[in-house]
Amino acid sequence: MNAADLPALNIAELQLLLRRREISPREVLEALQSRIAEVEPRIEAYLSIDFDDAVKHAERTDVSLPLGGVPIAIKDIISVAGQPCTCASKILRNYRALYDATIIRKLRAAGAIPFGKTNMDEFAMGASTENSSVKFTRNPWDISRVPGGSSGGSAAAVAADTAFGALGTDTGGSIRQPAALSGVVGVKPSYGRVSRFGLVAFASSLDQAGPLTKTVRDAAMVMNAIAGADPQDSTCLNEAVPDYAADLGRDLRGIRLGLPKEYLIEGIDPRVRAAIDQAVAHYDSLGAEIIDVSLPHTEYAIASYYMIASAEASANLARFDGMRYGHRAENPRNLFDHYGRTREEGFGPEVKRRIILGTYVLSSGYYEAYYARAQKVRTLIRRDFAEAFANVDALISPTSPVPAFPLGERSADPLQMYLADVFTNAANLAGICGISLPCGFATMENGTQLPVGLQLLGKAMDETRILQIAHAYEQSTEWHRRRPPLETGNFQRPTSNVQH
Ligand code: GLN
Repeated sequence: MNAADLPALNIAELQLLLRRREISPREVLEALQSRIAEVEPRIEAYLSIDFDDAVKHAERTDVSLPLGGVPIAIKDIISVAGQPCTCASKILRNYRALYDATIIRKLRAAGAIPFGKTNMDEFAMGASTENSSVKFTRNPWDISRVPGGSSGGSAAAVAADTAFGALGTDTGGSIRQPAALSGVVGVKPSYGRVSRFGLVAFASSLDQAGPLTKTVRDAAMVMNAIAGADPQDSTCLNEAVPDYAADLGRDLRGIRLGLPKEYLIEGIDPRVRAAIDQAVAHYDSLGAEIIDVSLPHTEYAIASYYMIASAEASANLARFDGMRYGHRAENPRNLFDHYGRTREEGFGPEVKRRIILGTYVLSSGYYEAYYARAQKVRTLIRRDFAEAFANVDALISPTSPVPAFPLGERSADPLQMYLADVFTNAANLAGICGISLPCGFATMENGTQLPVGLQLLGKAMDETRILQIAHAYEQSTEWHRRRPPLETGNFQRPTSNVQH
């Protein structure tokens, strides 16, 4: 195989060639390096890349392992020993991780090679990657648009074939939504399925890490490697990990798919709606039974999510005080000046907004009215899902109400940005699992084709089921074979009035 064609392979295809020793892990890294040199200036998905370190690991890797020799890109909120871990924040600009997160250790044990850290919204707060303090990442399908967020760098890298697969994190949609907007597969595991040891915490009752990949099988392969108990994370459940990849091939006859009526609301882009309707019809033709269900508290999910996520963020981000990690203000007058200026200089506007919102909803006098009430709503949302899952195996919906939006279009309006998660954040509140996979394209006025994502939600710890349902769809359609039109034409940076 021609080295220039390697980066277009998915993980399963690549691993087969490695295992047969038709290529070496080092050749794979070299092919990836030239692809990145060619494409990355247009996409800007990476914050740091360390090929020398990757080559060192590649030389020792055992290609007969499940991910033996496969390079994986890592969101810059996950610790990789010796590598920067900045969360795309100025406050951690010079910080390097001292140890591997458990999921990195597990990836390495499966033979994978972490080689680069991807761009993201600062501390994972956002839905477009525009809140990165470093740079914008561009959507490979149209570089004037966002890749989604907060794991936008991971999604864009996989879509642009500058990563075979990537890890992201999802607190309210940050794996699924960028997967949808960038045309790749993204899995948010159930709460407790994957260890968070070594991840920088955003909202501890919601955060989960998971894969972004080119196919459902690849996502299952990465899940096999990263899922499972961890004595260093007490929130990680001590339950056996199924072989997700081996269990993929179940047919769909008799499967019951719930269509939540609250998720097919006005405000969904008609092109997204059309793709979802077609996907539902396709599932019907595969033998699945489509059942109307109701999740009556859906309309309160966003409000409840932003209270709880911000409250938890305000507590988690208290550790960035200039003492132990990262940026430190110069010549402080006293301790308070030190804290105040360190945080003033180190955090970007969205992070400050969340901390202020979070401390407000937790403060005495407002606690009952906001935070405690949001927790009650959370219970109702959990119950909605429990009732729906009594009748169906999985729920089906759009991942995002709109395709990728232009850079700058929503960044001035936080509320508009928060609405990007309207179909995703209830799953985090309920602790259930979800996947987004490509299900069609929206043709824009200028003829550009943008990917549309289909979301499947499953019961807690029922990842096997949603992966099977996703796989059956993917394998009987062609959407996952389309690649973004990055090769055509001469690249010109789009002129926009967006300033960073
Ligand atoms: N967009 C949501 C937020 O800004 C979700 C982010 C995430 O899942 N990390 O909080």
